Amino acid sequence: ATPMSVMVGVGKAAELGILIRKGDALQQASKLTTLVLDKTGTITKGRPTVTEIVSLTPYTDAELLTLAASLEQASEHPLAEAIVEFGKSKQVGFKTVDAFQAIPGHGVSGKVDDHALLLGNEKLMTDNGLNIESLASKAKQLAEQGQTPMFMAIDNHLAGIISVSDPIRSDSQAAIKRLHDLGIKVVMLTGDNRLTAQAIAQQAGIDEFHAEVLPEDKAEHVKQLQRLLYKSGHKVGMAGDGINDAPALAQSDVGFAIGTGTDVAIESAEVTLMRSSLHGVADAIELSRATLRNIK
Ligand code: ADP
Ligand code: MG
Repeated sequence: ATPMSVMVGVGKAAELGILIRKGDALQQASKLTTLVLDKTGTITKGRPTVTEIVSLTPYTDAELLTLAASLEQASEHPLAEAIVEFGKSKQVGFKTVDAFQAIPGHGVSGKVDDHALLLGNEKLMTDNGLNIESLASKAKQLAEQGQTPMFMAIDNHLAGIISVSDPIRSDSQAAIKRLHDLGIKVVMLTGDNRLTAQAIAQQAGIDEFHAEVLPEDKAEHVKQLQRLLYKSGHKVGMAGDGINDAPALAQSDVGFAIGTGTDVAIESAEVTLMRSSLHGVADAIELSRATLRNIK
């Protein structure tokens, strides 16, 4: 590869808001046939908001929100931020949290106002011996709309659901269509539940996805895809934005970090997308192929 044509390619990419850290990434990008996409913040806007609270007697929506928002003050998860923001907008009286614990991939626990709280996915509830049956159909209905329903337990009793919505970016579907037209297989990974993942994948036009993937397992998924392609010389790319995505971005052959994402993601990726759009990935692949054609 002539250094000159690579430099030109890197320059053209920069004009499109695609920052390529190493010239080699352009060469690797021309060999991509599979692209792994994180869901939250990559396909979706990554700005979840609370849409609905469901409370089981004797609890009220207000009680649930007060306790949940107080608890989530201690978490840095985007879902936590959504609940805290909603609590602020409803002017709940925030209380202090004791014994806070984050359970990665599952949720959070802690003590507020002397109540033992659990907030998170179905697995968090069942792992703690709570039966979610009475809320199962409601949770299913919310998840089928692409929302993330989180279950809440108060003092070992199921108390309700707080549901959060994080819509897909307006251009994700079109960008994914372009990637498919370039012959790229697109695979979505998410820690979210299967029904929510399925709804989002469908809205985005993705036919392969893996849900309920634990943060530490994202990189392993990338590695498995690489193993499948090892003999063909084809490469696996990954696009993500979160702290969770950093190991998978580093593992992939070309990592694309969403420019508004976390610093760790940006540092782990070869390419930064300044426009926060998946069109940047399609642009980069097109450009890499054109550049490599000129070299040959
Ligand atoms: P993602 O990055 O896709 O959101 P995570 O692995 O961080 O995936 O989380 C998986 C699931 O665990 C979430 O969908 C949610 O149900 C639950 N969860 C994680 N963090 C929290 C939190 N701070 N509060 C409530 N639920 C949480
Ligand atoms: Mg994300």
